[in-house]
Amino acid sequence: MKVEIVDNPIDRLSAARIAPRCTARAKSTGMRCEAPAVRGRAVCRCHGAHGGAPKGAGNGAFRHGLYTGEAIETRRQTRALLQEARELLAQF
Ligand SMILES: [Zn+2]
Repeated sequence: MKVEIVDNPIDRLSAARIAPRCTARAKSTGMRCEAPAVRGRAVCRCHGAHGGAPKGAGNGAFRHGLYTGEAIETRRQTRALLQEARELLAQF
């Protein structure tokens, strides 16, 4: 939901209140977290919205190269090309 932010502090507060909420649930109670979710994510900052280590060689645990960014991108492009070819062939 898009809310127009104006200079009235009361309006800003109500805009914050209708922000999308975190979807995480507590193991102990089963209740929803209900903190505001990070923009573009389903969960709040405490529940892993920016999860994972930064990308890069410094953080890699490389063993065989199957999951390097380059390998993943190559597979993605190959899949897209195959999908395109299948769609083209399906027309005949
Ligand atoms: Zn949360």
